[in-house]
Amino acid sequence: MEATTGSRRTDTCDVVVVGAGIVGAAVAVRIARFGMQVAVLDAQKVAGGATGRSAGMVVAGLPGHYRRAVKAFGREQARTLWALTIEGRERLAESANRVGVTLERVGSLAVAVTEEEVETLRASAELLREDGFDAWFGTTDPLGRGFLATLRQPDDGVVDVAELTRALLSSAPIAVHTDTEVYELEPTGEGVRVWAQGRNVRCGRVVLTVDGYASLLDPALSQWVTPGRALIVTTEPLAGAGFPIPCYANYGHKYACPLPDGRWALGAWWRPRPGAAPIEPDQSLREGLGRFITRYFPEVRGRIAGRRSGVMGFTSDGIPVVGRLPPPSPVVFALGFGGWGLSWAFVAAERLVEWILQDTDPGILSVERLTGNR
Ligand SMILES: Cc1cc2nc3c(=O)[nH]c(=O)nc-3n(C[C@H](O)[C@H](O)[C@H](O)COP(=O)(O)OP(=O)(O)OC[C@H]3O[C@@H](n4cnc5c(N)ncnc54)[C@H](O)[C@@H]3O)c2cc1C
Repeated sequence: MEATTGSRRTDTCDVVVVGAGIVGAAVAVRIARFGMQVAVLDAQKVAGGATGRSAGMVVAGLPGHYRRAVKAFGREQARTLWALTIEGRERLAESANRVGVTLERVGSLAVAVTEEEVETLRASAELLREDGFDAWFGTTDPLGRGFLATLRQPDDGVVDVAELTRALLSSAPIAVHTDTEVYELEPTGEGVRVWAQGRNVRCGRVVLTVDGYASLLDPALSQWVTPGRALIVTTEPLAGAGFPIPCYANYGHKYACPLPDGRWALGAWWRPRPGAAPIEPDQSLREGLGRFITRYFPEVRGRIAGRRSGVMGFTSDGIPVVGRLPPPSPVVFALGFGGWGLSWAFVAAERLVEWILQDTDPGILSVERLTGNR
């Protein structure tokens, strides 16, 4: 429903989702399935944030490999988290399939560039198999690029995630408003008044899916999420060049990914260091990516056609969080998707929507994980 006061429009709906990335789209579609009126507001265009800059690698698991996850979270929790990312990858594949977008199941290769990483991959493969996951470790490099060892996950893949986001948002009765930055959320007796560029929306609930931009919208969110930056370069189409499978090195922080149109994407990202400037300068990332390209993909030099960078949100333990703004308010969030957010997006969206509409427990994704209340 719409009314106009002066040049400002006032809409009403049941739920406003702030952020038209892959997470906002997954949330909005799920809410619409409950028959509720949903509006999605974004400061940029659809998939204008990390989503549209991503390489589209859908990799189950956690950056750093399974051995590190076991060390950080303990065996049982690591197993739960790993299984959730597999569930997330499969939910993404199903949703993509429903809207006519394909997750190309080309698999993925974790590759080792140091002896230490070889041992981490070897140990991770053993632990994964013991815990019932598929993982193939080898000390030959099927890509012939001098990697020291590889761990293959056959069911991972690549998707055009911007196309998927657009297709999801058009697949349901969702009002999408782009170039509409939200700058204030005002609680009212019955819900929230959302103040945005050129538009107000009165609604019962707000879902924030703004990932790395969270603390700009509400400083209270900086206790959970810190912005970090990723860089990516894309090549011109490299006809006939053999490079069949996405691979990631340096514990997941550098990668190369063949795109469906014949271009390659090569990227690097890093979690923000404690005390670092809110969005770190790109210099060290840029140099690290340059060294990776020169050493392992030298044919790309001189054939780079595009460069972009993007902002992502990181929690202290690297796992996304679902929570509510204090004091218990109708504003909830799903944030902290980091550098491997695609395999988390759909599972987090599902947990969030079921929590707010059906009162189920978001489990390990609850922000209470970080407060020690669980
Ligand atoms: C260069 C790069 C490469 C990547 N490659 C991969 C990869 O291959 N595989 C993988 O799994 N992950 C990858 N990632 C990470 C992945 O893209 C993210 O984890 C994921 O896209 C997060 O989705 P999101 O919807 O939460 O956030 P975003 O896509 O960032 O969406 C947030 C949206 O919120 C909007 N917004 C922010 N503030 C406001 C406001 N005040 N009002 C209105 N709108 C607002 C922004 O405009 C933005 O569109 C990559 C990230 C980058 C940057």
